[in-house]
Amino acid sequence: MTLRLHDTATRTVRDFLPLTPGKAGLYLCGATVQAPPHIGHIRSGVSFDILVRWLKVSGLEVTFCRNVTDIDDKILRAASAEGSPWWAVAERNQRAFTRAYDVLGCLPPDVEPRATGHVPEMITLIRRLIDSGHAYAAGGDVHFEVSSYDRYGALSGQRPEHMRAADDIEGGSAKRDPRDFALWKGHKPGEPYWDTPWGPGRPGWHLECSAMATKYLGPTFDIHGGGLDLLFPHHENELAQSRAAGDGFARYWLHNGLVNLGGEKMSKSLGNSLLVDAMVTEVRPVELRYYLGQAHYRSGIEYSPEALAEAAAAYRRIEGFVVRASEAAGTGTGTGRAAGTGGTGGTGLPLASSLPAAFVAALDDDLAVPQALAVVHEVVTEGNTALAAGDQAGADKQAESVRAMLGVLGLDPLAAPWATAGDSGLSDVVEALVRVALDQRQAARARKDYPAADAIRDQLHAAGIVVEDTPAGPRWELAR
Ligand SMILES: [Zn+2]
Repeated sequence: MTLRLHDTATRTVRDFLPLTPGKAGLYLCGATVQAPPHIGHIRSGVSFDILVRWLKVSGLEVTFCRNVTDIDDKILRAASAEGSPWWAVAERNQRAFTRAYDVLGCLPPDVEPRATGHVPEMITLIRRLIDSGHAYAAGGDVHFEVSSYDRYGALSGQRPEHMRAADDIEGGSAKRDPRDFALWKGHKPGEPYWDTPWGPGRPGWHLECSAMATKYLGPTFDIHGGGLDLLFPHHENELAQSRAAGDGFARYWLHNGLVNLGGEKMSKSLGNSLLVDAMVTEVRPVELRYYLGQAHYRSGIEYSPEALAEAAAAYRRIEGFVVRASEAAGTGTGTGRAAGTGGTGGTGLPLASSLPAAFVAALDDDLAVPQALAVVHEVVTEGNTALAAGDQAGADKQAESVRAMLGVLGLDPLAAPWATAGDSGLSDVVEALVRVALDQRQAARARKDYPAADAIRDQLHAAGIVVEDTPAGPRWELAR
């Protein structure tokens, strides 16, 4: 079976056939950095991180480009509201996004272009559109002429006569058609600007993505991704201007569903308590990643603390098996460090051949993560049975399989970043120290000095270490 993906442009799940065999180019609309990310923003990062991992495990050489929109109406508004320079707001929030992607274990993109670094490419694209009769300068702005492109509306499935006016009101009176959108916005006092043949100003959002995507991935590339809220007008406009200019642009369009709160799309005002920086102080980042990644990427997620807690519990069940199996095999420790699973070319990703066929089939079917996780949970159940029966060889085999599957989803508790996050070898030291204490506790019990044994356990507990006695001897983990 080959990978099949849902293409918004055709509204079908169809075979993914890369432009160049063995390679895949992916452009993901990244952050508009006017505020730090909440989980609604970062869900897109997690969904497409799973896609990138799956493309790589499937043997493709992936070029992953995720942009940063660092100049935009919303950034200028945020900057003026707080009395800071626009670039300071953009820098600060870009760092918050990077932190959030990193803390949730998203692989870094191969390139992360910023809009303000690509104005020459945008000017070239505007020139091509004006020369080919698809754009016009008026009142200091440059607009794309929607009526000049007869496929306009096809991506988002709208008929032109039903479309609303473009929401960039700048220079609205100079537009030939209310649906025409700004490629370039003429300079206004107090705003940053760049000089162009059509006067000073700043780029329109849609133009930025077309210029950056084609610079790094070529005029025609494989996959364009983003949140469903970007389908119209952003992606419709990107596609229109790039195709009108003569580029093939994206061959597949993938859209992730949104995170809703109380039935509404999460907004800045609703989502403050759900900022990633705040949430990872409440739940472990790996559990937050499991929560955001477990649904099918095209489904909406209705956020609730209960659903998050359920997801965390489901992850702990999987993690518990992996850690116990690794301890029983003597390849790991209480904090869960073990040898890697081999993997493909230093990426830390598993080999496709190490994955159960049902798991592969699920991900090949438009990244059906819920079905893939069902396979993970089944193998965990089998593994727990093997452990309980003292079948170490069986447990080892199931643990290896579970870890390989988790590696694809970015959730292997014994692999980076979860196992070694910033500990620079300290977890080995902690392991040795806890073992010293546990050996003393065993010695106290052996001589029937139970108060001394209990005191050691209590002291460990006070230090944040939970001890559990198992048939194989005491094991420990950090209290949660
Ligand atoms: Zn974009």
